[in-house]
Amino acid sequence: MATIAFNQVSKRYDENTTALNALSLQIDDGEFIVLVGPSGCGKSTVLRLLAGLEQPSEGEIAIDDKVVNDLMPQQRNIAMVFQNYALYPHMSVRDNLAFPLRMHHMGKQAINTRVNEIAQLLNLAELLQRRPKQLSGGQKQRVAMGRALVRDPSVFLLDEPLSNLDARLRSQIRADIAQLQLRLRKTTIYVTHDQIEAMTLGHRVAVMNRGELQQIGTPEQLYNRPQNIFVASFIGNPGMNIATTEVFAQNNDLHAAVCGQTLHLPSAVQGYNELSRSENVGYIGVRPEAFRLSQVDGCVALKAYISAVEYLGAESLVYFHLSSHDHAHDNTTWIARINGHVDATIDQSIEIFLDPGAIHWFNSDGSNAIFDTCQSVQPRR
Ligand code: ADP
Repeated sequence: MATIAFNQVSKRYDENTTALNALSLQIDDGEFIVLVGPSGCGKSTVLRLLAGLEQPSEGEIAIDDKVVNDLMPQQRNIAMVFQNYALYPHMSVRDNLAFPLRMHHMGKQAINTRVNEIAQLLNLAELLQRRPKQLSGGQKQRVAMGRALVRDPSVFLLDEPLSNLDARLRSQIRADIAQLQLRLRKTTIYVTHDQIEAMTLGHRVAVMNRGELQQIGTPEQLYNRPQNIFVASFIGNPGMNIATTEVFAQNNDLHAAVCGQTLHLPSAVQGYNELSRSENVGYIGVRPEAFRLSQVDGCVALKAYISAVEYLGAESLVYFHLSSHDHAHDNTTWIARINGHVDATIDQSIEIFLDPGAIHWFNSDGSNAIFDTCQSVQPRR
């Protein structure tokens, strides 16, 4: 059982590389936190600092309110699963699982009991005599998890644990990991660049970019109330459509100019008051799933022409430009995600519909213009 706190933690590997900048983060006991962001944004550095494999350049790291900066990795009771699993190839699965216990001089009988327990938990009982090269990718992954959990660590760290698996296996093992975490209730930090893994696994998700925490919140908070354009574009697949806009008042009503068209914003729309007061709004954001191809009450219509349609079975992705060929003010490509099959041809002119309440608004500096998202940094209780 463990709580974790990062207090203004920075890591510079050399003068030119700030891998992590002033990270502050509180993690509750038993919480499942996912760190997500593009490659090189500092996610693994966070894990390595917590595990004691790297020293912070600044700041404090605490486990259960005790600062651990000066503790050796083996004194921290943390287990880590690496991307490449790092199993010992010459040892059987049983010996791989037993290894951390032998290093701690546990008795033979106790080791056997514990290894059998963990093999049961991870469905490895049939595989105990095999060598790693006789295992599938998914089985190796389970052995690596078993080896990490066998000593009953208080914190469990996973660094891109599914990246060597094919898509089908990934979603299956993802579900297994979620279930295991729920059962063991161990404080877990999971690193991935894949926003789907982040959204499906994390109680809270921390989005990082360029060594900085952008936002931490529940998957719903990140999806519905992204703090800035980076989070808005990173979470969701395909990402949010973003375009420049200008919001202006006319005849006591608000309007937004987007790609040469004008959207009328009814006063009932969420964020209307903030929009009418703000002079900084610079960007409009629309999730692909917020568009419709037929009119629904309260929706505004936009003129669009289609540039491509991708049929994915349950849904179609419709790529389009606003305005028409001849009057293209802006060549932003927008994406709509539409249920089922879309019968349309390329270059076809259509009307596309949008609920103005589903629009996100951002200031010129990229921050959210409507929501104060600060509350989402608190741990889940
Ligand atoms: P991520 O896990 O998000 O891909 P990392 O934490 O591994 O990112 O790396 C963050 C940044 O720090 C990157 O720019 C990376 O090149 C740099 N970095 C990581 N490890 C080292 C190291 N040992 N020495 C120098 N630079 C490093």
